[in-house]
Amino acid sequence: MELPAEGGCLCGEVRYRLLRPPLLVYACHCTRCRRLTGTAFAMATIMETVALEQVSGEPKLLAKDWPDGTQWCIRFCDRCGGQLWSEPPYAPDVRVLRPGTLDEHSGLIPDAHQWLSSALPWLQIPAGARSFDEQLTNEQIIELIQARQARGDEA
Ligand SMILES: [Zn+2]
Ligand SMILES: [Zn+2]
Repeated sequence: MELPAEGGCLCGEVRYRLLRPPLLVYACHCTRCRRLTGTAFAMATIMETVALEQVSGEPKLLAKDWPDGTQWCIRFCDRCGGQLWSEPPYAPDVRVLRPGTLDEHSGLIPDAHQWLSSALPWLQIPAGARSFDEQLTNEQIIELIQARQARGDEA
């Protein structure tokens, strides 16, 4: 990925710039992500908060508390409905970006796939990707970030 990289929502109201390479790229196959995005799985890119610079527009915040204690805080454009990134309340140093909003994202290949226990039956996980039956733990996320950095993967 060439830096800075730019991205934004579908209508163009919200635009942002990435100043540093992502820490981790993963796909989530949980039923909540599928329903939220209306797609077969969701992709997520963990970025440092300081690496994400807002260029224009003010994305709205959607906050949701789940009965199991998890919390979602998702930024979206209120003109086109496009989701841009989430702001995990327990990890203010990172943003979890929807990589499909980057102007160029073909080089962002998931390091890991989580919630394979609920993945769609026709889905084939690419060889070389790490697979996890449920939610990645913080320890697993740190290990995957270190593995990505050890590879020198700048994409
Ligand atoms: Zn928009
Ligand atoms: Zn999910």
